[in-house]
Amino acid sequence: MNKSWLILAIVSVISGCASMGGGQESRWSYIGDTGPAHWGTLNDKYALCSDGKSQSPVNIAGAHGMGLTAIEFSYATAQNLEIVNNGHTIQVNYPAGSYVVLTGKRFDLLQFHFHSPSENKIEGEHADLVAHLVHKAADGQLGVIAVLFVVGAEENAILSPVWAAMPLTKGSSNLAQAFDINALLPEDKGYYNFSGSLTTPPCSENVNWNVLSTRGEVSQAQINAFTQIFPNSIRPVQPLNGRMIGAF
Ligand SMILES: [Zn+2]
Repeated sequence: MNKSWLILAIVSVISGCASMGGGQESRWSYIGDTGPAHWGTLNDKYALCSDGKSQSPVNIAGAHGMGLTAIEFSYATAQNLEIVNNGHTIQVNYPAGSYVVLTGKRFDLLQFHFHSPSENKIEGEHADLVAHLVHKAADGQLGVIAVLFVVGAEENAILSPVWAAMPLTKGSSNLAQAFDINALLPEDKGYYNFSGSLTTPPCSENVNWNVLSTRGEVSQAQINAFTQIFPNSIRPVQPLNGRMIGAF
């Protein structure tokens, strides 16, 4: 092999790697030059963040019944959960087999993660913390269940082991004890429903959003532990642009 062939071979390997996996993501954050107001211009793939008309989060107000049915939860207890600090939030990856049924359609649970305060508002008010339970249907549509928490007197015992194990810097750890995500849900599973988007780049739309209306409790110390790692973890609310919000 002569020199020019060798160079050609190396170049094609490098360009092959660069295009693999559709990568080319851009660094983004929640403040400053790479904050939410700039997401749409950081990368062509993030255009919906500024041009989209069904973006999340939103302020939930004026909701009414729209023929919704109860969410069917089919969540299993998980062993050895992986807890990831991805630089934006704490994300807990859930093993396959847990799912919800939203008006007749199955969405499989992939992971849950947190924002403080909550991203969606209800009647103009943030909750102190939210868990976003992210699901995916067979056709690729995403479905999110949002569980809100406000500060109360007691520590949230279900979240305690996750908080104790969460990495303070980018990286991952594993939860030693079994984790039952059902215990994170309020007893009353009434919810608000609307169509929206991912709240992080690329802000993809057609996400089925379901915000449980009954809020759980966490301690101020638990909020502080999270916000010490992530002082900023929310996107501001986005215009509804005529979207209806259902309530069940
Ligand atoms: Zn989220």
